[in-house]
Amino acid sequence: MRILINGVGIAGPTLAYWLRKAGHAVVLVEEAPQLRRGGYIIDFWGLGYDIAEKMGLIPQIRELGYQVREVRLVDRNGRRTGGFSFDVFGRLTKGRFTSLRRSDLAATIYQALDGQVETILGDSVATIEHQGQGVRVGFDHAPPREVDLVIGADGLHSRVRRLEFGPETGFEVSLGYHVAACEVEGYRPRDELVYVSHAVPGRQVSRFSMREDRTLFLFVFRDQYLPTGSPSSEQECKSALASVFADVGWECPQMLAAMEKAEEIYFDRVSQIRMERWTTGRTALVGDAAACVSLLAGEGSGLAMGQAYTLAGELGLSRGDHTVAFARYQERLMPFMQRKQASAAKFASSFAPNSTIGVRFRDLVTRLMGLPAVADFFIGRELRDDIALPDYGF
Ligand SMILES: Cc1cc2nc3c(=O)[nH]c(=O)nc-3n(C[C@H](O)[C@H](O)[C@H](O)COP(=O)(O)OP(=O)(O)OC[C@H]3O[C@@H](n4cnc5c(N)ncnc54)[C@H](O)[C@@H]3O)c2cc1C
Repeated sequence: MRILINGVGIAGPTLAYWLRKAGHAVVLVEEAPQLRRGGYIIDFWGLGYDIAEKMGLIPQIRELGYQVREVRLVDRNGRRTGGFSFDVFGRLTKGRFTSLRRSDLAATIYQALDGQVETILGDSVATIEHQGQGVRVGFDHAPPREVDLVIGADGLHSRVRRLEFGPETGFEVSLGYHVAACEVEGYRPRDELVYVSHAVPGRQVSRFSMREDRTLFLFVFRDQYLPTGSPSSEQECKSALASVFADVGWECPQMLAAMEKAEEIYFDRVSQIRMERWTTGRTALVGDAAACVSLLAGEGSGLAMGQAYTLAGELGLSRGDHTVAFARYQERLMPFMQRKQASAAKFASSFAPNSTIGVRFRDLVTRLMGLPAVADFFIGRELRDDIALPDYGF
């Protein structure tokens, strides 16, 4: 089949990899003029780790990854108030856990395509016309094409979803936070392999020291702190952060000053995408476009890879009958993804607690995380992927 995938993040290239292995003709389309760099760090384990292993990518992923040692929570004077050793993740996943830039994971998966998949950069699917035996796809720039299937792998704010299923407002569920991330160069102090974080009610700021003298900053705050509606330009995002974190203490003054020089900033609502179906006609959605779990699940990338692998596998099993494949893809994964979403949504209230008592209680719980039983209770359940994906025999 001729299959067009909109979006070259995590889900898009994973799907392209498995579809190509099954002999389909795949085209990838990405709106950015080049694959996105920087961004933020993700934890990577579970389903995604298993699929990356099937793709032979674990050595590269581990080389790019960071084996984080500790999460350290500090007060406004930088004194340790809580945290835990990251060993717990290694223990609970039998060492199958690492943390790396989202963009490094995306690039590693893309490189696995060996330049064999046609990729259109700086463009986007703009129209989708179903025509009986196929689909006519229009783009912002390129001439239209006829394909058999269109896949939306274009993330949380998917345009394919909007074109085929309706406005985002029908599917986006806010978890009540905004998140921002950026990388800066030459920031001091550095704490190698330690994720250092400071919280006041409703606002949390963290930093992580990376290779090449770079540092990642991550800002998370409850929506009520955003001065006016969502900022649109990069400068508006920086100004909004400067205002939200002005009185938060700790290293905020120097972090905000350093942030001003950051080349790129990620800024968005923390939301989930909840849909009753991920497919319609000859179109299907994968990854965040279909079922964004949000950063609070800490697993969106792995789940996006799981969806991509399953969709490709089911297309293979159904021998080209996309209606059967689409139905099986959704049946197999929908309940699992809904459970992941429910558990991330439950965690939302304790992520950046809204009161001083809440912040102190969270600090206390993280200190107790050194006890295996407590760690298993709070983390173990979340780390288990209670699903086994078939070996599709690609
Ligand atoms: C701060 C933060 C922390 C996170 N932490 C973790 C974590 O610890 N572990 C984890 O596994 N996950 C984490 N996630 C979630 C994870 O990043 C996503 O779930 C994952 O990237 C989803 O992959 P995707 O391919 O569906 O979408 P994306 O990775 O968002 O890729 C979508 C691609 O589509 C492109 N695109 C968008 N619109 C168009 C268009 N109209 N036309 C063409 N292309 C388009 C985009 O440029 C992008 O390249 C985190 C997310 C955030 C925001």
